Amino acid sequence: MLSQAQILQWLQAYATEIEQNKTYLTELDAAIGDADHGINMDRGFKKVSILLPTLTDKDISNILKAVSMTLISSIGGASGPLYGTWFLRASTAVVDKQELTEQDVLGLLQAGLDGVLQRGKAQLGDKTMVDVLSPAVTAFGQAVGESKGTLEAMQQAVAIAQKGLQETIPMQAKKGRASYLGERSIGHQDPGGTSAYLMLKSLLEVLE
Ligand code: ADP
Ligand code: MG
Ligand code: MG
Repeated sequence: MLSQAQILQWLQAYATEIEQNKTYLTELDAAIGDADHGINMDRGFKKVSILLPTLTDKDISNILKAVSMTLISSIGGASGPLYGTWFLRASTAVVDKQELTEQDVLGLLQAGLDGVLQRGKAQLGDKTMVDVLSPAVTAFGQAVGESKGTLEAMQQAVAIAQKGLQETIPMQAKKGRASYLGERSIGHQDPGGTSAYLMLKSLLEVLE
């Protein structure tokens, strides 16, 4: 089970994680992009940090929707609309739910991924956040299918997400700015995949 309070804790934990990894994310983006991913994400999640205390009486769906709106208006770049879409679609998957079962969490993660896929049109292997989010959703779904609870399913999802992130290193980018580098994008970890991994890891930490 995932409660409204845990959703708020997760978003705060993720904002802190982004702040702590701002330089790291920007350095990853310096290698294959325009050196702003940490700056972009931190700008958005600093706004989310300020927003969160005003959302304590909102339900889960409305919290996620408010976060989406804040991210869309503040992150910019490729990742702003993508994370904005992830949170918006996640919010529509859990309308009127006061607490989330593992099936609900699966629906949330799947909806967020579907939104990113529709918006960004990246496929698996294109060296984007999809290479982290997609295997994580599959692993979560598999665990739920084996009657695992939210915590255990999330542990498996995060382990697979970490593997997916490592696997972005040898990939050649096919989407986003990194794709302009062609073969020179090979050998570097994807910045957006890294922030997506941190998002899932923050959720796991709140469950543990
Ligand atoms: P920008 O590239 O506009 O500077 P950011 O640096 O904030 O934006 O984000 C770059 C990240 O966005 C990439 O590392 C990648 O993971 C993700 N990304 C870029 N394009 C796409 C896409 N079409 N689909 C999914 N993710 C994408
Ligand atoms: Mg960038
Ligand atoms: Mg940019």
